[in-house]
Amino acid sequence: MKHSETVDSFDRFFLHQGESGLKAYEEAVQMTKDILMSEIEEHPSPYSGKRPDELEKSIEKMRLSSPSGEDIETVLTDIKEQIMRHTIRVSHPKSIAHLHCPPLIASIAAEMIISAFNQSMDSWDQSPSATYVEKEMIHWLCRQFNYPSQADGAFTSGGTQSNYTGLLLARDYFCQTRLNWDVKKKGLPPEARRMKILCSESAHFSVRKSASQLGLGEDSVIPVKIDNHFRMSMKDLDHKLDEIKKKGNLPIAIAATCGTTDFGSIDPMPLIAEAAKKHNLWLHVDAAYGGALVLSGRHRYKLNGIQEADSIAVDFHKLFYQPISCGALLLKESKHFQLMKLHADYLNPEEDVIDGMINLVEKSVQTTRRFDALKLLMALRIVGTENFARMIDYTIHLANDTVKEIERHEAFEIINKKPELNALVFRYTPGLGDTDKENQINRKIQQSLLIQGFAAIAKTSVFGKTCLKLTLLNPRTTLSDIREILREISLLGHQMTSKKEA
Ligand SMILES: *Cc1c(COP(=O)(O)O)cnc(C)c1O
Repeated sequence: MKHSETVDSFDRFFLHQGESGLKAYEEAVQMTKDILMSEIEEHPSPYSGKRPDELEKSIEKMRLSSPSGEDIETVLTDIKEQIMRHTIRVSHPKSIAHLHCPPLIASIAAEMIISAFNQSMDSWDQSPSATYVEKEMIHWLCRQFNYPSQADGAFTSGGTQSNYTGLLLARDYFCQTRLNWDVKKKGLPPEARRMKILCSESAHFSVRKSASQLGLGEDSVIPVKIDNHFRMSMKDLDHKLDEIKKKGNLPIAIAATCGTTDFGSIDPMPLIAEAAKKHNLWLHVDAAYGGALVLSGRHRYKLNGIQEADSIAVDFHKLFYQPISCGALLLKESKHFQLMKLHADYLNPEEDVIDGMINLVEKSVQTTRRFDALKLLMALRIVGTENFARMIDYTIHLANDTVKEIERHEAFEIINKKPELNALVFRYTPGLGDTDKENQINRKIQQSLLIQGFAAIAKTSVFGKTCLKLTLLNPRTTLSDIREILREISLLGHQMTSKKEA
């Protein structure tokens, strides 16, 4: 094979200015778009209803590769029937299970640009314009959170990575300022076994997971009791801090939550900020879910005090309606990024840094990193911040109306009556006086709704009781969708209860 022949035959696989590249790209995009749209039109329900074992079997049989390559239409048709057909339809108004949002069209379009240009955010020479876009988006976000001008941040893969990075900085800050110990160089200090992180009982499990990965161990996380509204109890926070100190242990950080995953509850930020200051603790705020309230004129007051946090985690693939993945970690003091700065000679050689060149690799636990800032930018411009505010306000309003609907049903018990965001937890309670049986009924209701393809709702466990959960992120969900779902739950619950008694 001649060298020139080889190159020509690869041309149609890549996007380039030559005719073959452009044409192949156009065809692929057109075909993908057509097939995707036809699937969405023909099969609109939240889920196909295919059972897990059947689905596993059919996908095991799917062809995964081909020696000489297949025609795109054949492959896409296969993918349509085997894969697209059995996806959870996140944009369906009755798809209200998790913090799993319908993505904005503006951002889906942005994904095309992100993948076509494939910039990597680690170094300027792999992402020249993208580097400054991310920098500007981060500063825009910092201003939304009322952070000072020296604040900074970086995009992340989501809340888990943001929480991990925030707590890593908290750990290393404590070691450096209080123990004069450089964790980056020397690893954990002998005092590590005594270091403690406080968060509420309702905090996200990634706080514990981070502590475990950071070498502090899960037991270093001290759960603080919650009040009647599922917020961190200030009384218990004081109590736990006293206890930690009495035992000779070392509190290093408080991880507060703005928008708990189950209830959307918001910890009392100003009081927690005061406690963190008094005890000289790093304050990390997990605002993965609730951070979006910065866009709402009506609800943003609920985040008051968040600007005192040393670090903030925010997710855009939740209430900012971005395709997965998209999140950020914001830092009140840019200089704290120094705590995790390590040099890779090939990425940030100091000798050839030219005017204004920055390498974002220093601000992330990742190296190669997606240009996710672009999709947020495109959405904020095309949709407009006022529409974001209206959508968020609508869903919170819907959650409050849903509470009233739930209360209208005798066999329902609502767990969080006063939602600050748009997540609701409730339970079907036919009054059997048998918690195990009732748990089982609630589990079955959730499964049935999904397998029927009627609705995707979630379940969770609260104080040992299985509950149902609605996460009302979708601004296209209406009260009549909710009424239909509640009616169906009631019907299923009734059937299951009478079968049990028979
Ligand atoms: C979703 C969520 C996380 C985890 O974020 P990912 O983006 O899934 O990694 C962390 N904290 C809270 C409060 C969340 O709701």
